[in-house]
Amino acid sequence: METNIPNFLKQRAFLTPNRNALVYENKAWSFIELFEEAKIYAQKISSLGIKEEDTVALLVKNRPQTVFIIHALQQLRVKTVFLNHRLTPSELIFQLKDSQAKLLVSDDDFINIQNDIHLLYDSLQLTTIQELKHLPKKEMEVVNEYILSDICSVMYTSGTTGNPKGVLQTFGNHWWSAIGSALNLGIKEDDAWLCTVPIFHISGLSILMRSVIYGIPVYLMEQFDEVRVNRLLQTGNITIMSVVGTMLQRMVTSLNGQGYHEKFRCMLLGGGPAPRPLLEACAEKGIPVFQSYGMTETSSQIVTLAPEDSIRKLGSAGKPLFPAQLKIISEGKGNIPNEPGEIFVKGPNVTIGYLNRPEANQNSFEDGWLKTGDIGYVDEEGYLFVMDRRSDLIISGGENIYPAEIEEVLLAHPNVREAGVTGIADEIWGQVPIGFVVLNHPVSEDELLSFCNQKLAKYKIPKKIFKAEALPRNASNKLLRRKLKEILPKDMEK
Ligand code: ATP
Ligand code: MG
Repeated sequence: METNIPNFLKQRAFLTPNRNALVYENKAWSFIELFEEAKIYAQKISSLGIKEEDTVALLVKNRPQTVFIIHALQQLRVKTVFLNHRLTPSELIFQLKDSQAKLLVSDDDFINIQNDIHLLYDSLQLTTIQELKHLPKKEMEVVNEYILSDICSVMYTSGTTGNPKGVLQTFGNHWWSAIGSALNLGIKEDDAWLCTVPIFHISGLSILMRSVIYGIPVYLMEQFDEVRVNRLLQTGNITIMSVVGTMLQRMVTSLNGQGYHEKFRCMLLGGGPAPRPLLEACAEKGIPVFQSYGMTETSSQIVTLAPEDSIRKLGSAGKPLFPAQLKIISEGKGNIPNEPGEIFVKGPNVTIGYLNRPEANQNSFEDGWLKTGDIGYVDEEGYLFVMDRRSDLIISGGENIYPAEIEEVLLAHPNVREAGVTGIADEIWGQVPIGFVVLNHPVSEDELLSFCNQKLAKYKIPKKIFKAEALPRNASNKLLRRKLKEILPKDMEK
């Protein structure tokens, strides 16, 4: 049987019309105003011939109009494809064709990218936000209910381990993700969530969905800026913020003396590994960091460290959110405490599958569980520790080496700004680790090696450490370990 829930935004605008929904620079919109804006954009989008069950792609910035258009598409029961504007035109065209988008809506700032797309894919219907504003309105009916099994969004993975995959996210996935988070973090009357992460990633979109489901405002920023953010967190207007490690690092570095307002209660950290020194620095400054683990496929966090454990279990990603489950499979056996294995997750926030990827669908799901491709372990109390990606594991003389562990050690050296580790072939050991660093200040390879020597077992010490100007990263700024070998000096064996 289908489960239907009232149209999230319409219901919210009915329940608490005058509460703040969105704050951007010096302007605010209440839920009833947000609903009105969404209806106007829905009417304009309808005038372009877009109707129920069509797919529309967005190439947009973190701006109020983006929020209006996302809700407008949901009012129309149209699927939304979220594009990362740092991708190349051909990568974007792949996603546009793969998702069978009928229309691309671009921010006015991205007109050049839109033109490039048009040159290579001229049958795609295009518009900009500015053009949309001037279109006539066409009468349309907003949907009364959302069907939880309906596809709400198609979001491509970051493409760290291979080509990005289109993840199907249903209304039910978003609903349960929001509920799962609320059952862990709670909802307070004065809650306000700061969104400086991109809306085209699940970390950003999930904040918009929670705002409407919980009835709390989103404070939106077009771009992350640590000085502005630190100042805002000292005002008491913000209670929760989502960050990735590099953002938090910049915030901590520029935070002098004064901490955050006491109303600020949660720094939700996700997206990748969290270096221990950063977590320790936050604990020392009294920043309430909640480590979390999740992916595009789980519609945001699925495992989060509860407030009372943030110090006692420093470094852990926590326990599954209430509606979800977690298990570790190592050599066919499940959940042996402290034994690393592949992380499997299950829950109503987990995707129903990838778009047009039968092989990935076949390989990634087993009896209702998603095989994440990540390696981790649970301790005796069931807390998850994420170690690394399965595909990046280095096997040296029969020992497993996790690049993330070595990178963390290198990053702990004060002269190292970025670090990446991968394995290369070795006649004796099969594979050995090598490291790449981007430096803040000069330091010799010998000193870095002896630094590693103090902290790592012999077999984990990189055979060589190369200095680089930059490390290969994808459009989400994630380290591409599979491409590190491409920056090796020419005479090195690959
Ligand atoms: P692709 O699937 O295309 O390779 P991706 O996995 O980087 O790209 P995302 O969905 O953006 O795409 O990222 C999710 C991944 O980020 C997780 O599978 C995991 O590898 C990593 N990650 C998320 N949270 C954590 C964490 N707390 N610790 C370590 N890694 C994490
Ligand atoms: Mg992935």
